[in-house]
Amino acid sequence: MSLRDDLHAGLAALERDALRRRRRSNTLPCAPRAQVDGRALLAFGSNDYLGLAAEPALAAALAAGAQRFGTGAGASHLVTGHHAVHDELETALARFVGTERALYFSTGYMANSGVLPALLGRGDAVFSDRLNHASLVDGMLLSRATIQRYPHLDLAALDALLERSTARRKAIVTDAVFSMDGDVAPLPALLERAARHDAWLVVDDAHGFGVLGPQGRGTVAEAGLGAHPEAWRIVLIGTLGKAAGVAGAFVAGDATLVEWLLQKTRTYIFTTGAPPALAHALLESLRLIEGDGGDARRAHLNRLIALFRERALLRRWRLLPSRTPIQPVVIGDNDETLAVSAALEAAGLWVPAIRPPTVPAGSARLRVSLSAAHREDEVIRLADTLCELERQGT
Ligand code: PMP
Repeated sequence: MSLRDDLHAGLAALERDALRRRRRSNTLPCAPRAQVDGRALLAFGSNDYLGLAAEPALAAALAAGAQRFGTGAGASHLVTGHHAVHDELETALARFVGTERALYFSTGYMANSGVLPALLGRGDAVFSDRLNHASLVDGMLLSRATIQRYPHLDLAALDALLERSTARRKAIVTDAVFSMDGDVAPLPALLERAARHDAWLVVDDAHGFGVLGPQGRGTVAEAGLGAHPEAWRIVLIGTLGKAAGVAGAFVAGDATLVEWLLQKTRTYIFTTGAPPALAHALLESLRLIEGDGGDARRAHLNRLIALFRERALLRRWRLLPSRTPIQPVVIGDNDETLAVSAALEAAGLWVPAIRPPTVPAGSARLRVSLSAAHREDEVIRLADTLCELERQGT
């Protein structure tokens, strides 16, 4: 067998197990009204929770930014690629989430995979919710710290691991809103543990930023932890390609922490700075998120969430308890989940099937995600079609 035959066999195995992934090309903006292979589809799969990704004011800000600053940063931030508009964005982000300082990264994957290796090393320990995002897990692996995983949201299990630990430096790591389940981490209880055991609390608010908390300031603000005396322990990560509608991420926190990350985070240091035009567009996005229009978008989104949960009365399939725009319908079997996703598509609805390893084996699901860009009648159409397909035994 050649090296390439190994890959052929691996691909055949993915196909056999209904695990081969396929990309679909949309020819329209990311708005929920998509077009794939020439067909109109109503999409319920994006993280564009506030409907900002196709917002004309942001496209205009991006174009104006490109006119003013050019298309690329030209170098990494610590060489010549750092621009005043990056500073402006970092100041605005820190003010918005209520921390001393913030650092702008090119993607959430890079922020998450970079922060832990900057804070921990061999002989240290990281305590991780089992459902944390892959990018956090990669950061843990890169850090070389001992990884202690606890069952999802299980504080008693976390306590037991913390009590036993003799590591010098520790970090508790959690998604704020879990990306495939839509539930929310108990941040006050986690901060209390972090304080008790002198640990960092790394919070990935990829799915809460812009959506939860007053004016969309995120899950930490919603939990009222911003002014907590132990808040300096919180390493807050937010992503800017989801509710904020553009691209990138930030790490926010205590000024000393952020200065350390600027010195030590390899995924920040060894990459070309994100285009300054993106920072320019993100300043406009923050204004929209924070303003009255943002409140109106969040209010509409919350109405859609309540409406979907009222209408999607499923019996065999399981709509997970979630108050966020992520409304997962767990079907279980990979083939059945793919078949339901295909049947939805035949009805003009685009809801991606999520299979292992993204979710645990046996819990394949439709990850329904709602956006302020959806209309009520569209959400009703999705809920009713799901109920109908379940009844038909598709
Ligand atoms: N964290 C979570 C919880 C995510 O869901 C994602 C993206 N799906 C990321 C981080 C990565 O962010 P980005 O897409 O900006 O790389």
